[in-house]
Order: sequence, then structure tokens, then C-alpha cells
Amino acid sequence: MSGGSTEGDLTRTGMALKHDREWDYELERVIDAIEERDASKVGLQFPEGLKRRGPRVADDLRELAPDDVTFMISGQPCYGACDLDTYLMRRTDVFVHFGHTPMKESDQIIYVPLFSNVDPFDIMAESLEELADPAEDPDVGLVTTAQHMNRFEEMTEWLEARDYEVHTRRGDDRLTKEGQVLGCNYASADIDADQVLYVGGGKFHPLGLAMEHPDKRVVIADPVNNVVKIADHEKFLKQRYGAVHRAMDADNWGVIFCTKIGQGRWERAQEIVDANDDAYLITMDEVTPDRLRNFDMDAFVNTGCPRITTDDGPQFHKPMLTPGEYEAAIGERPLDEIEFDTFHGTW
Ligand code: SF4
Repeated sequence: MSGGSTEGDLTRTGMALKHDREWDYELERVIDAIEERDASKVGLQFPEGLKRRGPRVADDLRELAPDDVTFMISGQPCYGACDLDTYLMRRTDVFVHFGHTPMKESDQIIYVPLFSNVDPFDIMAESLEELADPAEDPDVGLVTTAQHMNRFEEMTEWLEARDYEVHTRRGDDRLTKEGQVLGCNYASADIDADQVLYVGGGKFHPLGLAMEHPDKRVVIADPVNNVVKIADHEKFLKQRYGAVHRAMDADNWGVIFCTKIGQGRWERAQEIVDANDDAYLITMDEVTPDRLRNFDMDAFVNTGCPRITTDDGPQFHKPMLTPGEYEAAIGERPLDEIEFDTFHGTW
């Protein structure tokens, strides 16, 4: 179980991988911020895959920081920059969020994206086999996750040196960097090319990308697991059709509103509940199969993180749908028009 949807490459940090990875915790930058602000309380938040390293990072920071600084570690689940521990944030002078780029800039938060030290170029060389010959079709889109953003320019130049015309763009407000994708947002792949090269790990990112852009061929160059693949969303779609079919006879619905700072779609949740007397709004911070088991509902609609619905969907005791899939289940849109549930905007 993915246990949620930690962004991209940070999902498997505790498991055996082809390459050893080290992350750049940018301790000096954190210390500078502490000194600049004369902070005495510092909060540290890590994504799930790196929580076990938290105490060691705190030790390293303690050695560098003035004696009177206290470090506190968030134990709240964390799967994205949408998922800030606001409780700890309010009680600390500096709050450091590791593993993600900012979804929204804030003076109080230091974002440390944790760039990967893995070299992407060997696997990019292999991926050329799957891309069209530049003499025939030079246009290629390039996207990646936060962990490889530090090499993005080099990657672009690398492809250009091989005669490709590289199309990149910065997505919408939810994305900080040019070419960056999130598990819930692929706006940076809205480019004028029939093929997109995704450089990064994580199984579900390229699937979402392929579903969001079904007209494009999505080539995956995964430098973490050292594989090149083509994103195939057919199997994934079948799983989604299955969930929608099972929910079609539902007599009652649980409509989930997620209280995490960057996941709230209050209006969408309200619309559904207002229009359906058999729908009940359920608010929660962490959407897990265990927490929903006690609700005697026939089906659920999740207005929070779309990855929970799609990646963990099969583990819920009742069908779990995205808002768009819900419309298909109640007959408001044709089943073959369901799309990947994307998230836009911040908070
Ligand atoms: S809402 Fe988006 S950014 Fe947040 S955990 Fe889900 S996929 Fe990641």
C-alpha cells in the first residue's frame, strides 16, 4: 500500500532501490534562516519516506545552531506541500518543510525540496529508443518531479544537443517550477508536442500524466529504478470503471472533505451534498480505509487528494470515487468521459 501519495520519488526511500540516494538537506540554508530570524523554536516536517531520518537531521542541525534553539519534529502524515503541519507551524518561529517545493510561498516556511543525487542522463540516453527520431519529429515535452528539478536545465540542454526541440512550461499556481508535475497537477505538460518525456520515479505520476494527456505518448525515464517504460493507462482506467460500476447502485454516499491546508475543495463538496439528499458530508484530515470503515455508506466521493482515490482506491471497503467519477456513477456524464482528477490553485 502506498499509504497515501507522497510525491514522486520519496515513496520508496525505505526500500531497496537500484541506486543509493542521498538527499541534500540544505542544512546551511536552514541555519541561516534560524539566525536571521533569531528563532528559538524550529519545526521540522518530513514526508513519510524520510521520517525515520528526522532525528538524525535534527541532531545535525543542533550541532550547527545556537544552543538555545529547540527542534521539534512533526509526526503528522505528510504527502505533499499541500500537507503542512499548521499546528506545529503556528508554534514555531521557523518551520522547515522537507521534500516538496512550495505550493504557496510564505515567509515563515523554509521549503527544502530534497534534490536527488541520482544522475538522470544514462537512463535518458536509453529513453531515446522510445522517443521519435528527431529527424522525423523533433518536438518533445519534458517534465519531472521536485527531486530532479535541480537538473532540469541540464536535461533540456541534453535533449537539445541531440536535436530535439524541447517544449517546457510552468504549470499553474500550484506548481513552483518550470516543467514540474505533481501527482494532482500535470499542467506543465500542456505543451505543443505529441510526446512527453517524464524523468522521475513513482509509478502513478506518469499514469496521471498519460490520463490527463491521452493524445500524447508518455515515455518514462526512471533514474531511480533504472528503467524506461511507456505509460499505459488502460489497466488503470479499467480499475476506475470497475469502481464507478460498483457505485452505481449506491443508496447513500459519504462525501469527503479533506481538512489539509492544500486539499480543500469545499465548494465542490457542498455542491454534491446540496444536490443529493442521500449524500453526507464527512470532514477528515487523513483519508484512510480504517477511518472510513465505521461509516455505513454504500460509496464515497473524495474531494481531497486524488491520489488517495486512485492509488489506494482498491483498499477501501466501499467504492471510492473522484468527483468526476461520481457524476458518471449517478448518470450525469458518460462513463467514457471520466478524466484524471486534477487539482488547481493553492489555498
Ligand atoms: S493533493 Fe496533490 S500535492 Fe497533495 S499529496 Fe495529493 S497529489 Fe500530492
